[in-house]
Amino acid sequence: MEKLQNYINGQYINPNQGNYIDNYEPATGKVYSLIPNSDESDVQVAVEAAEKAFPIWSKMSIDQRSAILVKVSEGIQNRMDEFVQAESKDNGKPVSLAAHVDIPRAISNFHFFATGILHFAAEAHSMEGEGINYTTRKPIGVVGCISPWNLPLYLFTWKIAPALAAGNCVIAKPSEVTPYTAYLLGKVLSEAGMPAGVLNIIHGAGSKVGDAIVKHPKIKAISFTGGTKTGEYIARTAAPMFKKLSLELGGKNPNIIFDDCDFDEMLTTTVRSSFANQGQICLCGSRIFVQRGIYDKFKAAFVERVEKLTVSYPTDPKAKMGALVSKPHLEKVISYIELAKQEGGKVIAGGNQVHLEAPYNEGYFLQATVIEGLDFKCRTNQEEIFGPVVTLTPFDTEEEVLEMANSTQYGLSATLWTSDLKRAHRMADQIEAGIVWINAWLVRDLRTPFGGVKSSGVGREGGWEALRFFTEPKNVFVKF
Ligand code: NAP
Repeated sequence: MEKLQNYINGQYINPNQGNYIDNYEPATGKVYSLIPNSDESDVQVAVEAAEKAFPIWSKMSIDQRSAILVKVSEGIQNRMDEFVQAESKDNGKPVSLAAHVDIPRAISNFHFFATGILHFAAEAHSMEGEGINYTTRKPIGVVGCISPWNLPLYLFTWKIAPALAAGNCVIAKPSEVTPYTAYLLGKVLSEAGMPAGVLNIIHGAGSKVGDAIVKHPKIKAISFTGGTKTGEYIARTAAPMFKKLSLELGGKNPNIIFDDCDFDEMLTTTVRSSFANQGQICLCGSRIFVQRGIYDKFKAAFVERVEKLTVSYPTDPKAKMGALVSKPHLEKVISYIELAKQEGGKVIAGGNQVHLEAPYNEGYFLQATVIEGLDFKCRTNQEEIFGPVVTLTPFDTEEEVLEMANSTQYGLSATLWTSDLKRAHRMADQIEAGIVWINAWLVRDLRTPFGGVKSSGVGREGGWEALRFFTEPKNVFVKF
């Protein structure tokens, strides 16, 4: 059985205590590798290495730092197939998705921040007749990056790349559920000439090694993406230590469809925004609100398309949906389908586990599921399910749908479908979300702020926002 290792101080090493956790392949339900069950002693070794590397990395010229990060981006590109296969096997997602979305985006994340840092300039504010202020931005020091399992390398690199570009040294923890591509990244770092200790990757349980990262006094900032409950715990733990925090948390995003929309385009995109990555994208629109005039037409057309979504093992070219990420997660999603029925919902598509033939007969497969007839305030419509389950709700007016859309504790993203320009702007203005797409979904420009409001998080990632998060400003005033 393959044993993964931590990547600390530029080397692959075993965890201090020699303990490991089983790593399951979602498509087969079988353990296929072991990952380090690291603890605070491993974090301590990594922090010492990072502190030693910080003067080297932060004082390196921006051109040199940028060049190394470009090499990391190219290194992932050179090993594209290895990363794609690994991501798909580890997470359960179709190979085609890993090949078109996850790994290309990890490559872009490094390239974007490697080149972005070249343009990150100091600001100056002149005071008429008095003097001038200039504001420098310095890296923070050693920072922690903790990421989830749904888009493993994509979200891991979305944090690490700006942290490194800004000149910080990083202690990073991928999800224990999907460690493999973060493990592979170590090879690329060594090949790219990344100095030892600049990026340290530690595997293990969130409650143990993640917690040790959050609590370590020398780790000055935490960038976290994951569930709202975990985010709340991290905020509570880190706040008394005055750590900088970026929290990207859960969502329950509305997809609002007006009867004047471009029906065909909306339908195709809505199938994707509901079920891409088995519905396990924080930006998926899990609550679909449809204006009454087209509700029946939409329902019939949507169900017909959804029933054609082939659920299969990740390497099957026909697979439109793969396996859910883990057995506990599958059980959680199924429990929400049961809850929906208890709450009076009617399952109009899917709703059942899919049992494939061996060797995939123990895999975590579930049909794309559509439910209608639920009150917008019920638990199914208020709590994050994070799987291939959506609800349909009719509405009549803008006011009514706004009330329903804004009724959850979350506020990550929203999608609007309408041909009425004024209405689109009016709605976008009033929706409680950090990101709104009009007649589109998941179009991402890496320069734009990314993040949510309410319980969906604190702070923004992307572009200058990320580089500002990973630096400390210092204002200097000079009298004329
Ligand atoms: P999670 O359970 O909160 O875990 C996220 C990460 O935090 C994992 O690496 C986890 O390690 C670690 N962790 C767990 N407990 C910790 C603790 N006490 N201290 C420090 N770290 C800890 O979330 P998940 O189940 O992996 O991911 C799904 C959630 O992420 C959903 O709610 C989804 O909406 C959210 N998400 C949000 C965004 C966004 O941009 N807003 C993007 C993607 C996903 P282990 O894996 O070892 O538990």
